[in-house]
Amino acid sequence: MQFPLYFDNNATTRCDPRVVDAMLPYFSQHYGNAASHGHAFGWQAEEAVARAREQVASLIGADTREIVWTSGATEADNLALLGVAEAYAAQGGHIITVQTEHKAVLDTARYLETQGRRVTYLPVDEAGVIDLGALQDAFAEDTILVSVMWANNETGVLQPIDEIGKLCRARGVLFHTDATQAAGRLPIRVDDAGIDLLSLTAHKTYGPKGAGALYVRRRNPRVRVAEQMHGGGHERGMRSGTLNVPGIVGFGAAAEIAANEMARDAAHTRRLRDMLQEGLCHAVPGASVNGEGAERLPNTLSIGFDGLASDALMAALPTIALSAGSACTSASVAPSHVLKAMGLTDRAAYGTLRLGLSRWTTDEEVDYVTEQITHAAQKQRALLSPERLAAR
Ligand SMILES: *Cc1c(COP(=O)(O)O)cnc(C)c1O
Repeated sequence: MQFPLYFDNNATTRCDPRVVDAMLPYFSQHYGNAASHGHAFGWQAEEAVARAREQVASLIGADTREIVWTSGATEADNLALLGVAEAYAAQGGHIITVQTEHKAVLDTARYLETQGRRVTYLPVDEAGVIDLGALQDAFAEDTILVSVMWANNETGVLQPIDEIGKLCRARGVLFHTDATQAAGRLPIRVDDAGIDLLSLTAHKTYGPKGAGALYVRRRNPRVRVAEQMHGGGHERGMRSGTLNVPGIVGFGAAAEIAANEMARDAAHTRRLRDMLQEGLCHAVPGASVNGEGAERLPNTLSIGFDGLASDALMAALPTIALSAGSACTSASVAPSHVLKAMGLTDRAAYGTLRLGLSRWTTDEEVDYVTEQITHAAQKQRALLSPERLAAR
């Protein structure tokens, strides 16, 4: 085993060496600008980008003309919400989203509120799933967009995307989903799920950082998105800026590998995740799995140790790279907004660890991690025992 072990694959993944190999020629050999139409350097870059567009479109069942390259999912989420709010301003200013979304959606929605738009933040049940009846009740005359993530980045909990797509279709409301965590881990077919806009990023799927995409439906209906980055009119006017050719090539390669190996990766991580989950629940009394009652990503485990502190646990586990309940909130003292929305007390939320497995995670690593976390939890429990505290 090579320490520290990497169990933080919901934050980012190792770039697959096959992806790196695909990217390398595009730094110092084929370094043209994909928008340079007058010479071979530009044509080569353009061809490579076109191939990547096919690979990424194919991963989600889209047409190549529906892929808009971005710098990642944060930008894709911003472009979806801001771009639709602007393009459909005449039709209305109401957006529906969920309390457990990623900050890239929530902070953008909050910003839109400062610009005079109305936003409904749907609650979730204790498993982290929205209520379809509540969504139906939230629709108003001026609703233009519903934005619900496919898989949660903290818990792995999946939302009922097909049903949401159907409800939106029936109301004639656009449906955006942040599929950052789901892409490459679950099959995605934008037509079957009634999706109009979908956010992706390469680095959560064994691709490079700084490359992402927004899927924008072209037919039934043709979705309009107002550009948020003004410049040379790249990406059919929806996102200007010189394309990150090596990053896009890497994204394409990662998407093709994910499409080919998804079933195997999913079965592999699910087996090991279940092993880890059962091992920890068995060894640590009172351990609880967040989102246990819901369908979840195969590779993700969010586990709570009530009364313990995730930062103290992590400090006791220097050989394992993992995350407190959420990477995004671990820098602040506030407990995770996702766990709070699921009804966890502050105390329970503070005792949560998130473990994310990859296609390279091994049985041996899972055994080691189970042992180490068990040991750290038992030690912290002993330190916090009533007898021990009374003796202080
Ligand atoms: C990681 C993540 C993002 C942000 O993606 P970047 O490419 O890092 O900007 C957005 N949404 C979800 C659900 C994520 O997991």
